[in-house]
Amino acid sequence: MKLSRPLDNRVGQIYEPFKTRFLTRTITELAEDEVLVHIRASAICGSDLHIARGRHPSAPIPCTIGHEFSGDVIAVGEGVSTVFPGERVTVEPCIVCGKCAACRRGEYSYCEHISFTYRNGDGAMADYIAVKAPYVYELPDYLTYETGALTEPLSVATHAVRRADIRLGESVLIIGAGAIGMLVAAMCRQSGAKQIVIADVSDARLETALQLGATHAVNSEKCDLEAEISRLTDGRGVDKSFECVGLESCFHQAVNTLRRGGTATVVGIYENQDLHFAPARLVTHEIRIQGAQGYCWDFPIAIAAAKDIPLDKLITHRFPLADLQAALDTALDRLSGSIKVVLTSGPEAGELS
Ligand SMILES: [Zn+2]
Ligand SMILES: [Zn+2]
Repeated sequence: MKLSRPLDNRVGQIYEPFKTRFLTRTITELAEDEVLVHIRASAICGSDLHIARGRHPSAPIPCTIGHEFSGDVIAVGEGVSTVFPGERVTVEPCIVCGKCAACRRGEYSYCEHISFTYRNGDGAMADYIAVKAPYVYELPDYLTYETGALTEPLSVATHAVRRADIRLGESVLIIGAGAIGMLVAAMCRQSGAKQIVIADVSDARLETALQLGATHAVNSEKCDLEAEISRLTDGRGVDKSFECVGLESCFHQAVNTLRRGGTATVVGIYENQDLHFAPARLVTHEIRIQGAQGYCWDFPIAIAAAKDIPLDKLITHRFPLADLQAALDTALDRLSGSIKVVLTSGPEAGELS
């Protein structure tokens, strides 16, 4: 379908380490199954920072960025009957083949050809994005554009917590109080975990994590985390741990703090692929170690859960889209105190048909 007028779209790209620029792309038409979204809020993700450093293991520079976003639907392709212009939406930003065995099982996250919109050049640090209709979700009234953009990281946490099979009354350790760690804490709380310990080196982040659902906060720079977990669990260790940092030392902590028969779920992105690990404990303690990446139809669960999670507490900085570089610099600056930096843009787009 041809748009009634061509739209000039700024698309933010990291073109060399730590440097952003805007590409200009003109959108003139929509495929049958596509939805055109005017982006209103787009959050910087920890994975964008790995890209900015040139250290993301699967997204090399140059790379357009932005995959946590929300906005207004301004046009839909002829074959779209589930999404309508004027709706406020967020989007599960994956691209899958729909044909491989995994896709046909409904496990699209295991698709042999999985990619993400931003890695294909359709980053959401942009004015507009065209996406496939089945991945578009309407935002309920309790989500603003900004908190709606955080549906994506909340879905990452949802996926990790579901994979960890958190049960009523369990004890949990989360290593890393970044946005994902905090949202894992929130989802563990919703899943009925009783003791939710979160560890980080920033007291400010730990304070926010307590507001999101953690029951205990440990500054792992100021005390020995493994000893503290032993104390908090009467020497047994936690039922489940989550590694949400991506450092070898944190991996060891996630394994060493587990009770016998416990499960560690690794969520962090490892820039360094070399890891030294003594496997004896796997056997003696019958420990499981698993990974969790992204999501697979977890958005509806995350959107429902978000009603009871104060997502706005994660948003520390806001910039207009034009200030992408300043926004990225803020997110990269450890001293900025940033948790989530959000790019916003106004309502000037109007409706297209
Ligand atoms: Zn993300
Ligand atoms: Zn597939």
